Amino acid sequence: MLEKFYAIKKKYDKLMTGRYGVFDTLNKDMLILWVVIGVLNLFIRSLLIRIVSPVLIVLVVLRLLSTNEVKRSMENRKYLSFREKCVEFFQIQIKRIKEYKTHRYYKCKNCSAYVRVPAKKGKHTLDCPKCGKEFDVKIL
Ligand SMILES: [Zn+2]
Repeated sequence: MLEKFYAIKKKYDKLMTGRYGVFDTLNKDMLILWVVIGVLNLFIRSLLIRIVSPVLIVLVVLRLLSTNEVKRSMENRKYLSFREKCVEFFQIQIKRIKEYKTHRYYKCKNCSAYVRVPAKKGKHTLDCPKCGKEFDVKIL
C-alpha cells in the first residue's frame, strides 16, 4: 500500500520537475471561484457558467504545469495588485456607509488616494495626504 503511494509520489515529482506547481493566490482564487460557480450552477442554469467553469479549472492546471515560472509569478503579482485595489475599494465603501453621518470620503484626482473629511456642509479645500495636491469639494 505504502509502496504504491511512494511510486505515485515519485511519478508526480518527476512530472512537476521544472514546472511552476505553486498554488499561488491567483490559482487559489480561481479554484474558489470555480467552486462558487459550480454551486451557482446547481441553482442557475446558464450557458455562461457552463463555459466559464471548465475554462477556470483548465487555466489552473495549465498554470500549475507551466514551465515559465517568471511569467506565472508576474501574473500572480499583477493579480495581487488588482486584488488589493478591489479589497481597498470595498473597505472604503463599507467605511463610507458606516460613517456617513459623520464623515465623507473623496478620491484624489491626482493619485486616486482616498481622503476622509468630517461631514461639515459647504465648500472645502482638501490636501491629499499622499501626493499633497489640493482639490475642492462641496459637501451638501
Ligand atoms: Zn493625491
